[in-house]
Amino acid sequence: MLYRRYNEYIKQKYNARIKKICIDAGFTCPNRDGTCGVGGCIFCGERGAGDHIDITSHSIREHVERYLRYTRRVDGFIAYFQSFTNTYAPVDVLRERYDAALFDKRIVALAIATRPDCVSEDVAQLIQSYKSRVDVWAELGLQTSNDNTARLINRGYDTGAFENACNILKKYDIPIVVHIMIGLPGESDNELKNTVDYINHFDMQGIKIHNTYVMKNTRLEELYLNGEYTPITMDKYTDSVIYVLTHISPEIVIHRLTGDCPPDKLTAPDRNLRKEDIISEITRKMEERKVFQGCYYTKK
Ligand code: SF4
Repeated sequence: MLYRRYNEYIKQKYNARIKKICIDAGFTCPNRDGTCGVGGCIFCGERGAGDHIDITSHSIREHVERYLRYTRRVDGFIAYFQSFTNTYAPVDVLRERYDAALFDKRIVALAIATRPDCVSEDVAQLIQSYKSRVDVWAELGLQTSNDNTARLINRGYDTGAFENACNILKKYDIPIVVHIMIGLPGESDNELKNTVDYINHFDMQGIKIHNTYVMKNTRLEELYLNGEYTPITMDKYTDSVIYVLTHISPEIVIHRLTGDCPPDKLTAPDRNLRKEDIISEITRKMEERKVFQGCYYTKK
């Protein structure tokens, strides 16, 4: 096994065909509404990572119902709160929106994407309260452990917030999936190594690895069009992903090896449209080099 694939993990865990329902629950983000910043992270699109989600339904329940009704040959579903910051509201509001998705016994898990600075004890207690009904996990957008890059990309929190969020989630036994990005402005091999070293200090259950792509109408697009940002090559990207895979724990489930951007929202690079090519190139290189997930990992 080259790496611990999410699809295989899910198949084994549930012994069934499980599909994710991506949900835009109508939240915003403190890095957009002025609470900790405006304009958002420089790479973030207008719909806060939810650009592919159909938002024609009138409610969360209606959105989920449509999936349940029209998705064939699937035994269960994961309700994935994806767009913007899905813990950025009073707990009562969060409960109401999570409950709206969990009305059917075919929903087997609740996955919540958020920012580390929006994870409080109250939020963790609420997420924990669902564990008697469904599996749960939290997805934390770290992107990089380097605070200089964090300022450059206007992330809006320093890396210490990540540690704090991990400690709270651990306390309530909530699995964590960390998101990191490769090819951020100003980052090189050294910064990636630091990020991998950093996340190895925590007990992560999953990781999503994203390439930095340039979306339309973002600050990153301005930098790109002004010649101040150049996306890394596919060769460099696949080498960097392999670096991450070989240096993290073999226990971590690999949820993603590259990001997705709707073609009509993408400015650069065009390789982003060829996700399968990226994954097969990673596989080819790992086989050729005889490396596998965790082969250079040392526990911190
Ligand atoms: S924290 Fe997430 S939703 Fe908010 S601006 Fe950054 S990437 Fe977008």
